[in-house]
Amino acid sequence: MKKLQQSALRISLIYLAFASFWILFSDGIVLWLAGDTRRLAEWQTAKGLLFVAASSALLYSLIRLNLGRVTQLLKARLNHESRLRQAAAVFESTQEGVLVADKNNRIVHVNPAFSRITGYAAKEVLGQNPSLLKSGRHDRQFYEEMWQTLQRQGFWSGEVWNRRKSGEVYPQWHCIRVIHDEAGVPSHYVAVFSDLSAIRHSQSELNHLANYDPLTDLPNRLLFSERIEQALQRQQPDRPGGALLLIDLDHFKHINESLGHSVGDQLLKAVAERFANLQSGSTTLARLGGDEFGLLCEDLDQAAQAGAKAQRLLDLMSAPFNLNGQEFFIGASVGISLFPTDGQNVDQLLRNADSALFKAKSSGRESYAFYTQELTQQARQRIELAAALRHALENDELRVYYQPIHDLESGRVVGVESLVRWEHPERGLVPPGEFIPIAEEGGLIGAIDLWVLEQACRQMRQWQQTGIMLQFIAVNISSRLFGRAELDARVAQVLEETGLSPSCLELEVTESAVMDNPDAALELLERLHRLGVRLSIDDFGTGYSSLQRLKRLPVHKLKIDQGFVAGLPDDSEDAAITRAVIGLAHNLGLSVLAEGIEQPEQALFLLQHRCELGQGYWFGRPQPAERLRLKPHPLPAFWADNI
Ligand code: C2E
Ligand code: MG
Ligand code: MG
Repeated sequence: MKKLQQSALRISLIYLAFASFWILFSDGIVLWLAGDTRRLAEWQTAKGLLFVAASSALLYSLIRLNLGRVTQLLKARLNHESRLRQAAAVFESTQEGVLVADKNNRIVHVNPAFSRITGYAAKEVLGQNPSLLKSGRHDRQFYEEMWQTLQRQGFWSGEVWNRRKSGEVYPQWHCIRVIHDEAGVPSHYVAVFSDLSAIRHSQSELNHLANYDPLTDLPNRLLFSERIEQALQRQQPDRPGGALLLIDLDHFKHINESLGHSVGDQLLKAVAERFANLQSGSTTLARLGGDEFGLLCEDLDQAAQAGAKAQRLLDLMSAPFNLNGQEFFIGASVGISLFPTDGQNVDQLLRNADSALFKAKSSGRESYAFYTQELTQQARQRIELAAALRHALENDELRVYYQPIHDLESGRVVGVESLVRWEHPERGLVPPGEFIPIAEEGGLIGAIDLWVLEQACRQMRQWQQTGIMLQFIAVNISSRLFGRAELDARVAQVLEETGLSPSCLELEVTESAVMDNPDAALELLERLHRLGVRLSIDDFGTGYSSLQRLKRLPVHKLKIDQGFVAGLPDDSEDAAITRAVIGLAHNLGLSVLAEGIEQPEQALFLLQHRCELGQGYWFGRPQPAERLRLKPHPLPAFWADNI
């Protein structure tokens, strides 16, 4: 525009100079040219015409000269206007909030996104200072540094926490640019900002998902490990240490299996709520997976304090849980490792607490145990054994031993119990008590039990073919295998393959295997019963039996656990329990067998209380088939007199 005006001025000045020159000097020139005044009028007309022609030519050449420049200027102006329109469209429609303030820091423009994000309508903020958006979360220094950068670099960007009209404080990503006028003096400030709260929210949700257990909303293993790591880093020689407690619910698996996973989930939530009572500033409670919880306690200076915490956890479990109108009890076991004594890093501490947990579980559950070096040694051995056990079957290292079962009155052998042994190439004979739990944990028990079953059925057939006629051969079935639905089909298959009559096979299942999952057990026992095999309940008296359920089970025999037999005949409690079990069995129409008979007095007591069958070292130890003596046991002379 300015250039256009300059151009016009230039043309006007040249014209003014030419016209003035003409007015001042043209008459003199005409007089001088005309010489004689008679032809003056003609010269005057010619002068006029000349002026018009000369000024037209001058104007034409001047305008022509400037026309190119004028067109250029007009084009630039059109361009500029179109760019302004585009910018206005962007300003109106962008998702980012835009605020323009003048050099006095008064708001002169805001866009619709500004109103959407801040909650302020344009008319509420125009003329105001942008500080009305401040949240108060940043100190003076923050704003001073922002202004200094703006003045130095003309640009600033960073995160700012502002306050919406509703009062909500939220994070923005802010870019501010200084606009200078032609003289280079700041004239405006343009701030463009985006709302970070949605991103932050989804980030914190993701963060929560990654670090917390969705069911109980407790920290998960990942976050728990981090907290242990931090606790270890905070350790100082003059400060007390801490404890890591691993808590595992006893028999939780059965709740899931028998009452369904939704009840299992409810129970886990209820347990988490109870444990939360133990939380304080220096503890972290976490769910580490399945039915395993962790409690990290910092600032404990004695093992006794950790023990007391563990006991409180166990006490919290003593009241019944009420879920879906059903009331039930569940126990827990706790393993404890102390830091810094039991471990310098997270893995070591967790591993050692796990060994302690295993110890607590194997010492009868509902208890707690501390980690010791000796425990680690045992754990290592278990791992080695588990690895070796995988090859035991294929390397033909397993053996079946048979222990005779006698009729207590006549001393005759009526049957045998098959007991598995592992001939370890280096360690020698490993007893089942040591490797059966490992096989159960590692999922090998199914293959082992079926192998024993097959060997036992073949052996029985062999005896029958050589004229040794026993009433039955007993085989132990692990509770793990017992839970499998296809057990009856596998038993039927083995019987068919070996040609043994089902009535000669007796399957021993433990009391806890039946009572842990009574409905499934009843169904399976009925199917086995229909096959024609005999069923007995092993280690009776060591678990919890519901007599209501016991009465419905299609079993033939109860085996009194050797723990009660050991105290016979003098221990009055063992004697009372033994008498009660015999009475119970007979009233339910079952026969009774006592195991672990080592003394003739025990056998006599049992016989006097009408227990029919017995097995134990007094009669004979478990032996390989070729060494087994199946002759009647010689009975002492006083036998007949005392019955
Ligand atoms: P169980 O079925 O109760 O077997 C009786 C255990 O008592 C056997 O131990 C036997 O050797 C032992 N015993 C017998 N008479 C006496 C005695 O007079 N005194 C003492 N102190 N002990 C006696 P074993 O063979 O070490 O087996 C231990 C447990 O391992 C068995 O208890 C059974 O639960 C399990 N087991 C053994 N073989 C198998 C198997 O093939 N499969 C499964 N699933 N478990 C098995
Ligand atoms: Mg047994
Ligand atoms: Mg037993």
